[in-house]
Amino acid sequence: MLKLRVSDIKQFVYCPRILYFTYVLPVDKKVTRKMTYGQERHVELDCLEKRRKLKRYNLAEGERKFHTHLYSPRLGLEGKLDLHIICGQEFFPVEFKNTLKGPGLNHKYQLTAYAMLLEDVYRRPVRYGFIYLIPTGTIHELEITPNMRQHVKEIMTKIRCMVKGQSMPGTAIRKQRCVDCEYRKFCGDVI
Ligand code: SF4
Repeated sequence: MLKLRVSDIKQFVYCPRILYFTYVLPVDKKVTRKMTYGQERHVELDCLEKRRKLKRYNLAEGERKFHTHLYSPRLGLEGKLDLHIICGQEFFPVEFKNTLKGPGLNHKYQLTAYAMLLEDVYRRPVRYGFIYLIPTGTIHELEITPNMRQHVKEIMTKIRCMVKGQSMPGTAIRKQRCVDCEYRKFCGDVI
């Protein structure tokens, strides 16, 4: 079984063709200014987050763990989670996102994939997770539903089928995503 990364789930929801350029026909993508800036903000945020109260997450108390590498052989999935909070018997994943637009579907399924990894690795239930929007400092709570878990599994199956069949998927549904995409020069059929 092809081992996938949690970021693959996020990318596939954004545009399936990105996964084609990752696994079937690997290319050197350009590192955008937005990506570098996002990494710098993550470092700043780690320092701030350590001093903040968990009340922001509607949690009374708990332990914070940063940048945990998670791997599930059963799911064939791995990833490095920005933060998770351990509160009694429960685990809550937190993802930091550098976007002004609010959490996208790709971020929600990425968080779901992390929730599934946490459950598999630590054998603890994960009912909710959080998406922290860096520019506004707002925290969005997300329920991890059975349908969302099922959808993540279906995405993983689609990625593995695409890689096995070496078939190039269609372009992103929202064409504005192509405008500053780091893979744009490899996509001959987008304008
Ligand atoms: S340029 Fe558009 S179609 Fe090509 S990978 Fe990027 S988002 Fe997808």
